Amino acid sequence: MGQQPMTQPPWNRDQIESLNEFQQSGFMHPFTCPNNHGSNEARTLRATHNGWTCPNCEYTQGWAHDFMADGSWREVHAANAIR
Ligand SMILES: [Zn+2]
Repeated sequence: MGQQPMTQPPWNRDQIESLNEFQQSGFMHPFTCPNNHGSNEARTLRATHNGWTCPNCEYTQGWAHDFMADGSWREVHAANAIR
């Protein structure tokens, strides 16, 4: 995964949808807040127009992998499910 291209906000509606779907998909470990909020669910970052936000603190993150935002992960995820 070392050289994956990255994307930075602002993100459009399609990118935000792809990112948040990715977070819930189980395809890979979702991006999470480094602070301990009691459960992984409470730490799972949410994508917005201006970047990732933590639902339980002020933590933000300003990048994502391209494949997370452009929806291309969905095809890989679907192919994995068929195997
Ligand atoms: Zn947090």
